[in-house]
Amino acid sequence: MRKTQPTYDRPSADSERRDFVTLGIAVAAIILFVGTAGAVLPGILRGWLGYSTSASNAGLTSALILNIALIIFGWRRHRELSEEIVERRAAEQEALALARIDPLTGCLNRGSVIDAIRLTAADAEAAGHGLALIMIDLDDFKRINDLHGHLVGDEVLVSVADRIRALLPAGGSIARLGGDEFAVVSVFDRGLPDRVDQLASRIIAEVSTPQTYDGSEVSITMSVGIAVYLPNRTKRSADCQPEELMKQADIAMYNAKAEGKNRHSWFAEEMEREFRRRSQLEEGIRLGLNRGEFSPHYEQQIDLETGRLVGFEMLARWTSPTLGSISPEVFIPITEEMGLIGELSESLMREAFADALEWDASLTLSVNISPVQLRDPWFAHRILKLLLETGFPGERLEIEITENCLHENIGVVRSMITSLQNQGIQISLDDFGTGYSSLAQLRSLPFDRLKIDRSFVMELSRLDANSEIVQAIVTLGKGLKMPVTAEGIEDARILDLLKTMGGMKGQGYLYGRPEPADAVRERLASAGLLTSSPGKRDKGAVAGKAQVAAPAASRQTGVHQQA
Ligand code: C2E
Ligand code: MG
Ligand code: MG
Repeated sequence: MRKTQPTYDRPSADSERRDFVTLGIAVAAIILFVGTAGAVLPGILRGWLGYSTSASNAGLTSALILNIALIIFGWRRHRELSEEIVERRAAEQEALALARIDPLTGCLNRGSVIDAIRLTAADAEAAGHGLALIMIDLDDFKRINDLHGHLVGDEVLVSVADRIRALLPAGGSIARLGGDEFAVVSVFDRGLPDRVDQLASRIIAEVSTPQTYDGSEVSITMSVGIAVYLPNRTKRSADCQPEELMKQADIAMYNAKAEGKNRHSWFAEEMEREFRRRSQLEEGIRLGLNRGEFSPHYEQQIDLETGRLVGFEMLARWTSPTLGSISPEVFIPITEEMGLIGELSESLMREAFADALEWDASLTLSVNISPVQLRDPWFAHRILKLLLETGFPGERLEIEITENCLHENIGVVRSMITSLQNQGIQISLDDFGTGYSSLAQLRSLPFDRLKIDRSFVMELSRLDANSEIVQAIVTLGKGLKMPVTAEGIEDARILDLLKTMGGMKGQGYLYGRPEPADAVRERLASAGLLTSSPGKRDKGAVAGKAQVAAPAASRQTGVHQQA
């Protein structure tokens, strides 16, 4: 039941002035009556009784009747206008109150929460208490609107507001700040801050109880942030800055979301620093994308048995003019959350495809794809379009996806993988061993390759290294008929151990750090692996020369990868 906000006319200043005029006329008429009636009434009475026939009698009578009529008219008009003004004032008060209320839920609205904080701060100071501001944001509320429609969404909001309202301590107020965001303002005993925790927990528990709307059961969780203001001798309630307090509670709420939602979090100074850093990064990513600050670097991939260079893995790099060089482990997840990963990935791929077209046709290019991109039903189509536009052959492309993609709709992922493979693209499972993929999932998805996570491979450099995990993954790969790539080969010891485990590809700092396109071009040029017109060389011609492309790092460390 949506309450609509009524509009009211303001009582005009004109009608108030008219009220004084009519009151003035009535008062003047009474004064005239009092002043003249004593003198003229006896004459009129004499005339009516026939004692006097003076012509002035008729005039006096008319004047007196007019005077009485004026009194009655003035008085009635004054009363009517006074009543009208009282009614208009009441309507104005009601309109003002309604303007402070959210029409859907009956909570205070965003505009009045600032006043509520100020008033509660004054109450807190008077009682020697603290003020708690509890910021509430429903988790994934958009999903409810999408799944059940906006009418059910509205009902959920009304019910959430009612359930929170029922839990408010005396003097507490609830506001709806917009959309699915609410705020609770309340005083609390500063000696018992646990009470604020308890209130937040009770709100979360109460709201998460599933409810039936329009025949469907809906359960909802919320993320809650808490900020407090403690008035004291130096920090008076008048010094309380409601906007600042709201910002702090908001930051705490985002922290609760980042920690997994369906929980509450107290504001802490570090969060503000973290939040500021995060905002800077988001802003930097947005600007950086427009300014082309992201670029592809390439890490060599080697056939460990022959020592031959077989391809490169493209790794995103970002040097921001203001924030400096930022690791992909930092900016990729943020770009995913910002919904910009598809845009970034496609611009990097376009550049990488153009770079790789200059390389020998035997060299493959691997690109990392975020699980978020796999949710896009048009993903395979986009990749094919990019291949067509750049002329890069699908057979030279390898797409790396992490085990996180297994949390997505597995049927959708499988059909996506199949349609990419139909174009000759190879699909590898990256960082294998760090996620939670089961053997059943692994068998159900037709991966072309497993990449052993570098954390397991790097372990092998320790003298007392236990190579069993790596060995187990290699054996698993053999069993599933999936070739294996080992990442994180940092030294000769790791390389030697891996070589004993059978044929596989590998990559790591032993062969050199990821390099920009120019450095790769130079490396390939000196090895005779550069071609200006793609696809000219045949694989046999390259195989021999690839050995020459021994990376600088391996030469420095004295490692002969050909060995
Ligand atoms: P990844 O795909 O597993 O890439 C390998 C990472 O290991 C790279 O880190 C690489 O520089 C590093 N690495 C290679 N050899 C060694 C070694 O011998 N020792 C050590 N300690 N590290 C080594 P990087 O470039 O920082 O990338 C980190 C992760 O960020 C990547 O892991 C990948 O998951 C992600 N990433 C990078 N570029 C992209 C991209 O364009 N799109 C997506 N979705 N993710 C990307
Ligand atoms: Mg990778
Ligand atoms: Mg990896």
